Amino acid sequence: MRYVILRDDDTCALTPVESLERLYRPFLKRGLPVNLATIPNVRTDAKRPDGLREGFLQFNHETTAPFIPIGQHHALVDYLLSEPLYHVLHHGYDHSVFEFDCNAHDAEYRLAAGAQRLAAAGFPTPHAFVAPYDRLSPAAMQAAARRYPVISTGWFELRRLPRSWWPAYVAAKLRRRPHWSTHGTLLLSHPGCLLSKHRPFEDILGKVMAAVATQPLTVLVTHWWEYFDETKPNTEFISVLHQVADHLARDPGVRVISFADLATGRVTLPWFAPAGAERPSRDSGSVPAPGGQPAC
Ligand SMILES: [Zn+2]
Repeated sequence: MRYVILRDDDTCALTPVESLERLYRPFLKRGLPVNLATIPNVRTDAKRPDGLREGFLQFNHETTAPFIPIGQHHALVDYLLSEPLYHVLHHGYDHSVFEFDCNAHDAEYRLAAGAQRLAAAGFPTPHAFVAPYDRLSPAAMQAAARRYPVISTGWFELRRLPRSWWPAYVAAKLRRRPHWSTHGTLLLSHPGCLLSKHRPFEDILGKVMAAVATQPLTVLVTHWWEYFDETKPNTEFISVLHQVADHLARDPGVRVISFADLATGRVTLPWFAPAGAERPSRDSGSVPAPGGQPAC
């Protein structure tokens, strides 16, 4: 059996309910879980690393507040809580550029503040953390590992890991494993944003299924706002996403799971100790992934 986790980044207080419904009803209808990396307190002037306006701000019509807590979007919160196959993950704090490429104090503060916003909205405690642009400093990696059983990011490299994780990282890398675990924390990489509007649409399905076929667990990353051009649905791209849902659901050798499934041990992979089995850790680690893959 090969496993797939779908991770959609940047759900926030600006996200229209209809956008997620349009994108993901075909997944939910087929019983496929959708993991939404959610921004707890989105900043309404968020910029990308290249200085351009963040894509999700196309839905920021009249807001003048500099930040909006997720809990202020009552309709979205109610919608997400009403659908058990949606799983809310913790995605940064306000989505400032590289906000988790920071020191331990700032990481702790942002993690605590973000967790508080998510809890205040009524969401259950997430099982996984995702940093904006998949960028974490070693201190932030360690702080996130203390709080969450799963960290999902683009790839791992020695200089961005706590020193005490290095032996485990090297061991996993030697075994060419894209995912690894240490002290009860699962560390999952992904093969880049295969589901992206910047890729030729005709190639996406094939690339996704090829990635799924090559490893026991594949994390597929996408961004809901990429399926809209200045708030207008990109029907061609949306159709590609729905084709992916159909193929994943039809393949008897594939099972789509959530980060929570791994974190709670409902699904176990051969080289993982179930997350939580040996928490609390603050150290150690192991794993892989070719350095240099594009962050999303
Ligand atoms: Zn993001």
